[in-house]
Amino acid sequence: MKRRAACACGAALLSGSLVGHLHAQAATASSRVAAARAAIAPKGADPKKTPPFHVFQALFDQACQEPKLPDVVRTNDRSAIVPRKEWFAWPANIFDSLYFIGTRTAGVWAVNTAEGIIVIDANFHYSSKDLVLGLLNFGLDPNNIKYIIITHAHDDRYWGAKALQDTYPNARIAMSAADWDVVAKDNSPPEFKPKRDMVIADGQKITLGGITVTAYVTPGHTPGTLSLIVGPLTNRKSVASDEGQHWASIWGGVDASIGRHGVQYYPDGQTMMRTHVASLRRFMDLSRKAGADVILTPTLRHMNFQEKLRAWRYMNPDESGGGSPEGVLGEWLKLRDQPHPFVNKDAVERHYTVLLECYEAQLAWRAGS
Ligand SMILES: [Zn+2]
Repeated sequence: MKRRAACACGAALLSGSLVGHLHAQAATASSRVAAARAAIAPKGADPKKTPPFHVFQALFDQACQEPKLPDVVRTNDRSAIVPRKEWFAWPANIFDSLYFIGTRTAGVWAVNTAEGIIVIDANFHYSSKDLVLGLLNFGLDPNNIKYIIITHAHDDRYWGAKALQDTYPNARIAMSAADWDVVAKDNSPPEFKPKRDMVIADGQKITLGGITVTAYVTPGHTPGTLSLIVGPLTNRKSVASDEGQHWASIWGGVDASIGRHGVQYYPDGQTMMRTHVASLRRFMDLSRKAGADVILTPTLRHMNFQEKLRAWRYMNPDESGGGSPEGVLGEWLKLRDQPHPFVNKDAVERHYTVLLECYEAQLAWRAGS
């Protein structure tokens, strides 16, 4: 009888400490979410006067969403061809050597130099033709593509690389070793898989015509996601020109992922999230040291790309790539003395603060699971 009472007491103590632990984790998560929320907009800024492209609400809404646990390997087949009218976006020349050639939602970038072109990401199998048309739109020759750097082994990043590899055999397709391994194992249709080509190591630099892409292996979104620093970028030929040198920071994948396309990357959600947090802490530091003042993201809404591009086109009607908005003159007069909408060092810092605090909240939510 005594023993039974002791057991019941032990169980109560155990469940009491578990409840306490869960409360502590919930408190940690909510204070992290509050810290992320505080970084969404510039400090002390009047929300009515702050340009929408400096407010990271969409990023926060995705990254700080409380997860459904346990984490599971996602399986969604996106091999069907999506009609062009649903994703087509006009390309844009946003720095002297940097072009946007992606779709309505996906960031794909081209760095054009006197020694050749570096393309970053290749999107889906059905959109790769339009990436090439994006280059041709600005008179760039796709035969000059020297490297196609794939940030990570997901369908919306690498499936388009196969057609580019087949069409432009001199272009090197570059990915981390870990993500080439994912490509080899995943259940993507074989006709969308590029042949294993160039392997990028952590810290590797690719330089063409004076512009360098430095790649860091930052696991969490996939086992070998690449995050990139690109520069120096200049802005001398636009209407709103400046004399500065700019560096773009690209975090390779926003949400941590336990697996995709039939491949499990991490044994559990906590390991996944700890990996992701460590990678971001390191990349934030590298990004700061590089003096990054431009954010580019694989998913465009995370950087408020459309809002920035809209302002950019008002400022530079000649660079509109066919998509001239109405009322250009009035807006141009208002915006012509404003700084380049893609450049803002404080925004880079806040972008990563939102992510880091949300990731810490994600880790806390998983600590009790
Ligand atoms: Zn991805």
